[in-house]
Amino acid sequence: MVGQLNILLVGNGGREHALAKRIAESPLTAKLTAAPGNAGIAEVADCIAIAADDVAKLTAYAVEQKVDFVVVGPEVALVAGLVDRLAEKGIKAFGPNEAAALLEGSKSFMKDIVAKYGIPTAAYASFRDGAAAKAYVARHGAPIVIKADGLAAGKGVTIAATIAEAETAIDEALVGGRFGAAGEEIVVEEFMAGEEASYFALVDGETVVPLGAAQDHKAVGDGDTGPNTGGMGAYSPAPVVTPALEQRILDEIVRPLARGMVAEGRPYRGVIFAGLMIVPTPNGPAPRLIEINVRFGDPECQVLMARLESDPVALMLATAEGRLAALPPARWRDEAALAVVLCAQGYPGTPKTGTVIKGTAEAASDGVAVLHAGTKRGPQGELLASGGRVLNIVATGHDVAEAQAKAYRAVDRIDWPEGFCRRDIGWRAIAREAAQ
Ligand code: AMP
Repeated sequence: MVGQLNILLVGNGGREHALAKRIAESPLTAKLTAAPGNAGIAEVADCIAIAADDVAKLTAYAVEQKVDFVVVGPEVALVAGLVDRLAEKGIKAFGPNEAAALLEGSKSFMKDIVAKYGIPTAAYASFRDGAAAKAYVARHGAPIVIKADGLAAGKGVTIAATIAEAETAIDEALVGGRFGAAGEEIVVEEFMAGEEASYFALVDGETVVPLGAAQDHKAVGDGDTGPNTGGMGAYSPAPVVTPALEQRILDEIVRPLARGMVAEGRPYRGVIFAGLMIVPTPNGPAPRLIEINVRFGDPECQVLMARLESDPVALMLATAEGRLAALPPARWRDEAALAVVLCAQGYPGTPKTGTVIKGTAEAASDGVAVLHAGTKRGPQGELLASGGRVLNIVATGHDVAEAQAKAYRAVDRIDWPEGFCRRDIGWRAIAREAAQ
């Protein structure tokens, strides 16, 4: 590390390991610390035991240690105002302030902004009263989608196939308090049928720098079966997002949102992660917004970092300093990238932790990256599973099929009997590639 910047990275997942590797390599970086990090991040950064959502301790540490730039991985601290607290101390950060992070912190806020600025999305209404919510459901019928308004760690959404299921979800949130304060308000919205994709862009005020599309796999089992997870794998680019669709995503969703946030007096600075449904229409496929996230996705970040040729530190710093408009376009490798997530048995229920993982060095050959998520070192330095999602195997290739083949060859070199993964990451893209 030869640069000038003392950087603090917040988070402890595979997303943060992907960022940590790139930050450590950057010519701008002098020192990198991660809070709290993991066993993989510890290979490229100093790790300190401060939780990723502890705004007060993170701010105090950044002041004490004269941190120049804070890169925030997960959403919780952004929604809780970490970037504002740092700014009060004169410390720059990558990520939106509290007023702009509300796009992820409140679904009804997001839906109201999106409706106000004419961005295509599912029809919706927000409720605090169960009877009113049920009357809306009765009018619109099933399938219908019920969402807790606030952050619910990805568990706040019910796709109700019947009116009875919708009513149960409404009662659980508004009466049963299933999501605590996050579920005191709910959004009830139209079910959109189509194919999901994610789109990423850096935004500072009205300036938008496209990063591209990815797709992930949320269900735990092959063929997209079983309960939902934090993400079992991802790839980028996503062939479903054609150049024409990308143009529409930028023109109809990302740019109007950036302009709208400026008009609202809540200018956005950071990465916009738009969760999209690509729906069939008489005029061909069209993008509709499902949700906005105010940070990189995990594992989508891992595949974006594998394809990005430009220095992500330069891009993130320019975003934080409002200099994106003056930057040359980001450069990308002309390759596809694919990530397979290895999980501990039991996940997405209670994972079996403390088991020993071997073979990561053997897997990390042929340009394949082995990124850590839920890992720690044991007393003898052995690598132990410490969470549900444990490792990410990230490979690149001339297309998604080649990246997939390389990734699974590497997966097979990992010696971890208590782990598992999906064997079909990328299937949609590979089917499209084969049809071309
Ligand atoms: P969210 O947390 O809003 O991204 O929702 C989680 C998941 O629920 C999404 O990734 C979609 O698979 C699904 N979903 C959310 N909203 C809708 C909708 N209006 N129509 C269909 N599926 C949806």
